[in-house]
Amino acid sequence: MRVLVLTDLHANWAALEAVLEDAEGKYEQIICCGDLVGYNPDPEPVIEWVRSHCASVIRGNHDKVVAGIEGLDWFNDVAQAAALWTRARLSEDQLAYLRSLPQGPVTLEHFQIWHGSPRDEDEYVTNPREAAPCFAFVQMPLAFFGHTHLQGAFFSKYRRIGTVPPVPGNSDEAVIQLDPDTVFMVNPGSVGQPRDGDSRAAYAIFDSEQNYVALRRTEYPVQRTADRICRAGLPDVLAQRLLAGI
Ligand code: ZN
Repeated sequence: MRVLVLTDLHANWAALEAVLEDAEGKYEQIICCGDLVGYNPDPEPVIEWVRSHCASVIRGNHDKVVAGIEGLDWFNDVAQAAALWTRARLSEDQLAYLRSLPQGPVTLEHFQIWHGSPRDEDEYVTNPREAAPCFAFVQMPLAFFGHTHLQGAFFSKYRRIGTVPPVPGNSDEAVIQLDPDTVFMVNPGSVGQPRDGDSRAAYAIFDSEQNYVALRRTEYPVQRTADRICRAGLPDVLAQRLLAGI
């Protein structure tokens, strides 16, 4: 089975559309590691698409705040403004859907998913030092997560921790071959607001038969989303961030 793994879509419909076109329907299932909304101008179509297409979805910190499960206090001014803007646009039904999303980790047939870390959905795992203690909580040889918007992977083999870098700028794919002696925590990277210096939308495909994960990047009309951020009355800095991929 091939699984399309998405995370941190952040209401960027153009980026999601480009990812789906790039993946060419070559998957049997779609899963989402949270943060459907926040930052960008298309929360309604992204929520509706995720709701009708994803086999498994967990919540992210932005979903929690927009849905009112958690207060705005931990967000910076820009994230707060975007969360309030988003909340005002969504229907009661869409807010109820966000409220209904489960907290990770969730264990699926071939892997686990969570948003931040396996012990705390709001924790950022950005480097091997932060990743190392997480492996004690991983219950399967493969897991997918998000939250940092940084594409790549951490792995543990015979208690040694290693990293897999994101797809290089001159390529659109990097393949991680899985092996039975190694536990992998893979971050597909953010569909809707990449922060690893590459503005291309990021995602992953897992193939359970060939036993690999393909990290992928694809161009999308980022300027168009940036213009729409400004026109929508969202903070301009969000447009600049999107264009720079930071
Ligand atoms: Zn996020």
